Order: sequence, then C-alpha cells, then structure tokens
Amino acid sequence: MSRIVHVNGAFLPEAEARVSVFDRGFLMADGVYEVTSVLDGRLVDFAGHAARLRRSLTELGMASPMDDAVLLELHREIVARNGVVDGLVYLQVTRGNPGDRDFAYPSPEVAPTVVLFTQSKPGLADSPAAATGWRVISVPDLRWGRRDIKTVQLLYPSMAKMAAKAAGADDAWLIEEGGVVTEGSSNNTWIIAGGRMVTRALSHDILNGITRTAVRRLAAEAGIAVEERSFTIAEAQAADEAFATSATAFVMPVVEIDGVRVADGRPGPLTRRLRALYIEEMRRAAI
Ligand code: PMP
Repeated sequence: MSRIVHVNGAFLPEAEARVSVFDRGFLMADGVYEVTSVLDGRLVDFAGHAARLRRSLTELGMASPMDDAVLLELHREIVARNGVVDGLVYLQVTRGNPGDRDFAYPSPEVAPTVVLFTQSKPGLADSPAAATGWRVISVPDLRWGRRDIKTVQLLYPSMAKMAAKAAGADDAWLIEEGGVVTEGSSNNTWIIAGGRMVTRALSHDILNGITRTAVRRLAAEAGIAVEERSFTIAEAQAADEAFATSATAFVMPVVEIDGVRVADGRPGPLTRRLRALYIEEMRRAAI
C-alpha cells in the first residue's frame, strides 16, 4: 500500500509528491529534520522534538514554518492517515525553492519546504537487536563542526554505517584524536562503569539527543549517577556496560567495540533496566 505523505500543506499519495530540483534541501543540504517515534499510534516525546526543531531552525536563521500545535496536528494526521501503530514520523524543513541555484540564502519571503512521511515498524519496541545488542566499530569523526544542529547532511553518517556493515558490525562509533568518542552514526553513546553512567557533555560536537535527555532524567529518578564527560574507545571496551540511545533504537545495548567484548558480551543489567524504564515511560506519556 502506498503511503500518504505531506508536502507543503497537502496530503498526497507518495508517487504524486513533488519537490523542486531547485530546493535548497536537495542542492545544498540546507535543511533540518526530526524523527519522532510512534508507539501504539501515539507520538513519543513530541515536545522534545518540536523544541529541538525550533532550535535547529534558529541556528540556521530560518523561521519556524508553523507553531507547535499545528505541527502536532500534522504529525497526528499523518500517523492516522497511514494507520501507523508502531514506527516513526520523519519531518524535514528546508530553506525552500528560490527558483535557481545560488550560495547566498534567498530572501526570507521564500517559503520553506515542509515534508512529512511515516515509516511503519511493527514491534518497534521489541526489536530483536535489543536482545543481543549491537557490535560497533570506531571510525574517525569527519563531520562538520555544528553537529548540534540536526541538518540533513547525512553523507558521512551513511559512510560510517556502510563501513560498519562492511566490517560485519551494526553501527559505527565516531571518534576524535586519542580515540575519544563523540557519538554513534545516528545515536548518542554511553558507558556504565562502577555503577555510574557516563555520556559526553553537550556542545557543538554532538546532537542533543531527545532520548539522551529522557534517559538522563529516568536515571536520576532511579537514583543512578550520570556523569557528563568524554570517554575513549579503550575505556568503553573496559566498561561494565555500553549502550546507545536514539528515538528509534531507544536504549540499545552495545556488546562489542572494535572486536573487543564489553564485559561478557551480553546486554548489561542496568542497560536492560533503563531500556524497560524508557519504553514504559514513553508509552505512558506518548500523545
Ligand atoms: N546523534 C546523532 C548524530 C543522531 O543522528 C541522533 C538521531 N537523530 C542522535 C544522536 C539521537 O537523537 P534522538 O535521541 O533525538 O533521536
């Protein structure tokens, strides 16, 4: 069955949806996006995604195309029109179509392009990968310096994912000099050592993950200490547990890093507990 997608105010069958070849998202990767997961037909942490979208747009000098209430209605409508039970809503906002190619930004009167589509993923919260955990490799982080803005420049993360696949792994952890981890190809990275959770502090170097924020809060509520600091691949390999967080992977155990098992090579107990806590809380609070 063909999906119904949303383009600039219209809901259309996907085969009929059109974006201009002059769209700056297409020509310049001049656009931002959000991915909001759907559980039981409801949106997970919509407020967090809407707030981050606004921030990404502001950082790029783009106006918000609509207020949060309208954005929420669009999300709900596309979920309903496509009968999504478990899955995700992808939202992209670009600087629009100035009618020609030019490096300079067009005048603010050029309307942004707003696209939404859904991906149905039945059983999203029961992913078999969560039972065994991910094996990851490290690759140099060659992305630009404003990773806190959620832009559609995803070529390097795609290359990192392909390097992982070629190595028979599930994902790539991106590293700076000295093996210091920034984040995963499309997730935030964590280790647990001595009962303390460790994740890199927020800066321009990483995306402020919505799942990261929720997991931090849940950990604090459960009385688990969270330290915000950088860690290396060597430290992660020697940790008690490791995991990654994102809107679609939730809390994903990481059991092997560059061929070295983390602890006994199975998802750790605290990671499993955090995953269960996160999914339970997100199901409950979804709107
Ligand atoms: N870092 C990067 C580079 C990402 O692409 C993502 C997923 N969009 C994340 C972290 C996790 O963010 P979130 O929890 O909001 O999905």
